[in-house]
Amino acid sequence: MFALADVNSFYASVEKVFRPEIRNEPVIILSNNDGCVIARSKEAKPYVRMGEPWFQVKDRDFPERINVFSSNYALYHSLSQRVMACLEERAPHVEQYSIDEMFIDATGISASASFEDFGRQLRTYVRTCTGLTIGVGFGISKTLAKSAQWAGKEWPQFGGVLALRPENPRRTEKLLSLQPVEEVWGVGRRIGKKLQTLGIRTALDLARARPAFIRKTFSVVLERTVRELNGESCIPLEDAPPPRQQIVVSRSFGERITDYDAMRQAVCSYAERVAEKLREDGQYCHHVASFLRTSPFDAGKPGYGNTATTRLSTGTRDSRDIIQAAVRALDAIWRPGFRYAKAGVMLSELRPDGVAQLNLFEEQQMRRGSDELMDLLDAMNRSGRFRIGFAGKGIEPAWQMKREMLSPAYTTRWGEIPKAHLL
Ligand SMILES: [Mg+2]
Repeated sequence: MFALADVNSFYASVEKVFRPEIRNEPVIILSNNDGCVIARSKEAKPYVRMGEPWFQVKDRDFPERINVFSSNYALYHSLSQRVMACLEERAPHVEQYSIDEMFIDATGISASASFEDFGRQLRTYVRTCTGLTIGVGFGISKTLAKSAQWAGKEWPQFGGVLALRPENPRRTEKLLSLQPVEEVWGVGRRIGKKLQTLGIRTALDLARARPAFIRKTFSVVLERTVRELNGESCIPLEDAPPPRQQIVVSRSFGERITDYDAMRQAVCSYAERVAEKLREDGQYCHHVASFLRTSPFDAGKPGYGNTATTRLSTGTRDSRDIIQAAVRALDAIWRPGFRYAKAGVMLSELRPDGVAQLNLFEEQQMRRGSDELMDLLDAMNRSGRFRIGFAGKGIEPAWQMKREMLSPAYTTRWGEIPKAHLL
């Protein structure tokens, strides 16, 4: 058996954890640069649509106050890790599937407690430790666990915990007959539309479709979904997700960039961040690419976009090498006269170690003490007391993202830790 734990309205709930006075008020979260609405609390759903541009929401009148936040991913990731840690204390195998969803191996649970009891225990434990509420769905396959979790959210009378047992196929059928096909895990809107034109409207219709037909008309992936809906587990739990093949840091600018110095600063800062991520992953990279582009929405303005890669002869995880390589790549593609909207740095050909044949004639030599220096740098920056960075990115640069309604980094910066007042 699998369980899926999903945090209710994750981003909005995290913001509320630290602002109890707005617990019952509408909350919305904006995308990078405060562009559009990417998350809503349940109270905000009647007022604001997903994806609505912020400039349209801003001037509208609402019957009650709406609390608006810029997205604070440092905070969301930190809370996501706390939820994950809670679940790992209670279950032997947990796979983080997304920032707010975790699959749990629930095999053997029913021997000691019912699935529902176990789900409710998890729910209470996570709420006590993090202030966040999870829903838990159980199923014999991951897809059925997802369907159970969906139903738990749809019908509040289940109290957020619902188990679909193989011993009770009627109940599973009933639930699948009520689930729109596009809500099935791995289906989505686009495939859902196509299925509907074929008369497959519910999860149960999909479960009863012939696997061979689905494979031919769609893909082996959707065929696997059909099997999973029928109680055949095809997608195992991944204990350790496979190491990433690429790491990217890229952002849209708060304002368009037109001069080289500003662009170079942006690229330096992305390179610095991407190098940190590389070290967090415990990897070394062999390729560093920089890319930039204008915005497709700047109608009437000349458009341009390009990417260049610097190949490194030896694997590195040293910020200095990565920044240097990223700037070299930028120099190859930089063209003046454009209004740039976005740039980024991508690392690829990642390996868990830096061992490579050192080439005697190579200009790039391994830096002495590199690993020690980078470890020290990361440890200092993680301490949260100060940040040491590279000067190339500039100080308080003008190109930075707009995040005008950002909540504090409550959990990752000492200076912003929440204060408690005793009355
Ligand atoms: Mg969720």
